[in-house]
Amino acid sequence: MHEITDYIGRFAPSPTGQLHFGSLVTALGSYLQARAHHGRWLLRIDDIDPLREPPGTAFQIIRTLEHYGLFWDEEILYQSQRHDAYREILHTLWKEGVCYHCHCSRHRLHDLGGVYDNHCRHREPLTNNVTPFDKESAWRLIQQHPVYHFEDVIQGTYYSKSTSIVLEDMIIHRKGNLFAYNLVTVIDDNYQGVTEVVRGADLLDPTLRQISLHKQLNLPIPRYAHLPLVINHDGNKLSKQNHAHALPDTDPRPVIIDALRFLNQPIIAGWQDYSLTSLLEIAIAQWSPSEILKQNHQQQRYE
Ligand code: GLU
Ligand code: ZN
Repeated sequence: MHEITDYIGRFAPSPTGQLHFGSLVTALGSYLQARAHHGRWLLRIDDIDPLREPPGTAFQIIRTLEHYGLFWDEEILYQSQRHDAYREILHTLWKEGVCYHCHCSRHRLHDLGGVYDNHCRHREPLTNNVTPFDKESAWRLIQQHPVYHFEDVIQGTYYSKSTSIVLEDMIIHRKGNLFAYNLVTVIDDNYQGVTEVVRGADLLDPTLRQISLHKQLNLPIPRYAHLPLVINHDGNKLSKQNHAHALPDTDPRPVIIDALRFLNQPIIAGWQDYSLTSLLEIAIAQWSPSEILKQNHQQQRYE
C-alpha cells in the first residue's frame, strides 16, 4: 500500500443535468490525477441554483460515477447545506466595507457590453444598518486583488483576455438571494482542503477571479489544472444545454477507454479482458498528465 499524501482533489458537478462524455473526461482526469498522487478525491455537489436543478439529478450523477467505478473518499459535500458558512463570510465582507449592492438593471448591464463599470460602488455608504441580504440586488466585491494571469499545470501561463474584466467588481451574491459560483467554489475548495483543482478548460477565465477571491479572503491558493474540452461536431463544448447524451448505463469500459484516448493516455492493449477495476488501476499506473493536449490543439483537432 502506498502512503496517503497531502494531495486532495475533487469533482464538483452542478446537478443541472446528467453527466455526459465531457463530464466523464473531467471526472476521470481529476480522479486519475488524485489517485496517481496517492491522494484523496472528494465529491462535491454544486447545488446552488434550485430552479436549474431537476429533482433527482444529483442522485443520478452519483449513480453514474459509481457505475463508472469512480469512487470518492469521505462524505459528499452538498453546497445547499453550506448556506450558513457562506452567509457568515458574506457578512464579514459586508462589515469590512469591501462590497456593495448593485442595483443596475439587466438592460444597463447589457448596454455596457459585458464588462461592468463599477457604477454602484459610490452609490451608497458601504457599511450601514440595512440588512445586506435583500432579494433585489446583487452584491459586488470591490476589486482589490486583480489577477491578470496564473500558471496552469496543463495549459501553462494563462492570461486574461481583457484588463477591464480583471478590474471589474465581481458579483459575490446574486439577485434573488442566490450564492455566486465563484465565491462558494473558493470557500469550499478551501473548506475541503483541496490542493489541486482539476476541471474543464471552460473555467480558465473564472480561475482568475477565484484566485483573486482567495487573496481577498486570505486563503491559500490551490494549483489549477484545466483539461481540454470535448467539442462536438459544431465546434461547441459538450454541455447539458446542447443536449449532450447522458452516459450509457451499459458496459462502462469502452467509454472509459474513449475518455483515456481523449486525454491522450497510453493505450491499454487487450482492455476487453480486464475488469473495470483493473482497467482503472492500469490507467492510474500509466497516468501521464504531461501527455494531455492543451486546449487550443484539442480544439483544432476536434473542430
Ligand atoms: N460546478 C461546476 C460545473 O459543473 C464546476 C465547478 C468547478 O469545478 O469549479 O460546471
Ligand atoms: Zn450597479
